Amino acid sequence: MPQRNTKQRNLVLDAVRSRKDHPSADEIYLDVRKEDGRISRGTVYRNLNILAESGEITHVKVPSADRYDLRRDLHYHFFCTSCGAVSDVPIPYHEEYDRQAEEETGFVIQRHRMVFEGLCSKCRTGAEQRVQIKSRIRVKDERRV
Ligand SMILES: [Zn+2]
Ligand SMILES: [Zn+2]
Repeated sequence: MPQRNTKQRNLVLDAVRSRKDHPSADEIYLDVRKEDGRISRGTVYRNLNILAESGEITHVKVPSADRYDLRRDLHYHFFCTSCGAVSDVPIPYHEEYDRQAEEETGFVIQRHRMVFEGLCSKCRTGAEQRVQIKSRIRVKDERRV
């Protein structure tokens, strides 16, 4: 049984490491199912928690379902409010915020999390196209008057 446990944990770890899009637990479950048809959702979820607690992967908290990340260094995330996509934001982690917060509060600060929200490039293009179509329709309507 311990051997099967290790095998399952490695399957879950590989599934997270093979994706760069910050998958949800459900997406990992579907990926792992392709490798091991007998694995249950509960087993996948439990292993994700164990891996996140041991620091082998990172747990990313965003407004929708929690995501998992193969990156272990401290970094910021972006959350698309339209399609729910999560991606890394390539700006440096501000360690000075942790020190400032510690000085101001006297609390022990371990880290801070930052999630930027807005439209990803795909959704932004979609929104711009919709605006263009709308303004074209408006122009047509105005000509008719
Ligand atoms: Zn989007
Ligand atoms: Zn990330």
